[in-house]
Amino acid sequence: MENLTKTPFIPIDVSNALRIDRPKHGGDVSIAVFRLLRLVVLEDLFGPAAAAQAYLAGKKLGARLGLHDIEQFVALCQQLKIGDVSIETHDDLFKVDVHECVTCAGMSPVGRPICSFEGGLVAGAIGSIYGLKVQAREITCIGGLGDRTCGFEVRVQR
Ligand SMILES: [Zn+2]
Repeated sequence: MENLTKTPFIPIDVSNALRIDRPKHGGDVSIAVFRLLRLVVLEDLFGPAAAAQAYLAGKKLGARLGLHDIEQFVALCQQLKIGDVSIETHDDLFKVDVHECVTCAGMSPVGRPICSFEGGLVAGAIGSIYGLKVQAREITCIGGLGDRTCGFEVRVQR
């Protein structure tokens, strides 16, 4: 126990976390693991504040991905199976739709949007790509509200 308290805390970086050596299971994991952590355990720990925590987590991650353009972000979402992402740009507003959202597609609606992690991810990615301060708001949600897509309005903060 004494040794544990003396161990310096070294944050785990993205590239290390993505190093995978699983000859038998490979890089895929059941979506159940992600959803149970993201939806059930996080809300168990933080209650209604889980949405803000998940948004911040997504935003930090989105900003750390080292993305250079929006096409790269769309491709990454496809590659990581977060969902199929389409983005429209209108002046100070980005409209982002996620089809087959990893967090919620297929759920019975719960009466509130629940994809704050994806909202944060989108905001972090767009903010870092364009060097803007932005905020995302979830307008539609497949599993939360019964919509066709999880839709986000990402506004530039002036
Ligand atoms: Zn969703």
